[in-house]
Amino acid sequence: MKNVIFKNADWIITMDGDRTRYRNCDLLVSGQEIREIGTNLEEKLKDEITIDLTIDASGKILVPGFVNTHHHTWQALFRNIKATQGLQLEPWLKVMYEIYKDLSQDVARAGVYASLGDCLKTGCTTSNDLWYPHPVGVPQLVDAEIEAAKEIGIRFHPVRAYHSVTSDIVPPEVVDTTEGFMEDAERLVKKYHDRSRFSMCQVGIGPSIAQYDTQEIIQATVDLAEKLDIMVHGHLAESKFEVEYTIEKFGCRPAEWFRRNNLLGSRFYYAHCIHLNDEDIALIAQTNTGVASCPISNMYLSSGSCRVPDLMNAGVKRIGLGVDGAASSNSSNMMEEMRCSYLLNRLSWGDNAPNPEDILYMATAGGAKALGRDDIGYLSPGMAADITMIDWKQLQYAGGNNDPVDCIVTSGDARMIDTVMVNGNIVVKHGKLTMVDEDKKRDYVNEVGKALLKKASVRIEGLKEDIE
Ligand SMILES: [Zn+2]
Repeated sequence: MKNVIFKNADWIITMDGDRTRYRNCDLLVSGQEIREIGTNLEEKLKDEITIDLTIDASGKILVPGFVNTHHHTWQALFRNIKATQGLQLEPWLKVMYEIYKDLSQDVARAGVYASLGDCLKTGCTTSNDLWYPHPVGVPQLVDAEIEAAKEIGIRFHPVRAYHSVTSDIVPPEVVDTTEGFMEDAERLVKKYHDRSRFSMCQVGIGPSIAQYDTQEIIQATVDLAEKLDIMVHGHLAESKFEVEYTIEKFGCRPAEWFRRNNLLGSRFYYAHCIHLNDEDIALIAQTNTGVASCPISNMYLSSGSCRVPDLMNAGVKRIGLGVDGAASSNSSNMMEEMRCSYLLNRLSWGDNAPNPEDILYMATAGGAKALGRDDIGYLSPGMAADITMIDWKQLQYAGGNNDPVDCIVTSGDARMIDTVMVNGNIVVKHGKLTMVDEDKKRDYVNEVGKALLKKASVRIEGLKEDIE
């Protein structure tokens, strides 16, 4: 078992239940887990263990690796395109689904390299992915992304989602049958879902937006999740249109519709949760349903602002941050997501806005809880060795080296990320991925992305400009 010591960190911000902070301390990792936090650990344990690697953490801050609770990794290949700029959710989705018709395993792999590579490089050690469009006849997209995630070394929570009906937005080319979805989901869980402590891959299932699907597939999803004992994830109350649609069709608001269809509880977590009234918030709190707030995407699509302080005050503990798909956030940068979350909450809720430590909670322990994990999200002996080492002694942070958490959340950015450890392995060193050749992956992503847009441009006039 490999022993790695982070020596003499300026601060260790644990984000444990008491939000304990240590000053000028060491942290010892043995194998996959954190063994001890304290002073002079090397000297203290010299008769018991041999240190294999010493990392000088002086001038640095250790925080739990960030947890990204909502993503659509493949969208990295069609971000920054003129065809979608300035659109809100529904018209934006129409363009997305035209591109989705050409999704492939190459796109799945490339999307993970770009998106989850960005996540790792910005301090994130665990990520969700919600994959809902499965073009008919294109198998194993989730398999391809799981393999790519393994290659770069990130802890992964892919969700096998689906569409069961066509609509103005969803074309028949990406619609699943209930049997097809069930069969594929069971296969994925059997092949990849690891239930052990420190598991690197846990598969979930879910609808993209539940009330747009058939009753049959929703019931099948809930039953299958219970049978396999896995998590369910999707979107909830992202747009005003969704609320109006649900009221008109079912006579109730989305959260209430979720309750009626057994879609709330500790097995469930949902992205956005923007358009909630007080009763909706009470429902989420009472049922211990998880929330993934995605402020950058919500600003980009003019969707609105999640009522984070009201959710927290109602007692919602399973609340995290999500970078959301890169086609609506244009990056997968967890440092930026934290800062934007802090700022958007300040803008939206003024004096009630969460403080920087609450935002860091969402990016760590709160996000881990949302994903249903009790072995990641905070630094403590016996927890997984998912550690982000932050360098705050650079010119751009000078004058702001006061409270370490305030510095990270309110003036921090990705340049701070020095070293990232996942499950005891160093996957980012001096800001670069260690498991793969970044330049080769970059070229591959660009090549696959260009080919995808070229295919789609036959159907989408606006894309021609983007691929010139
Ligand atoms: Zn989403």
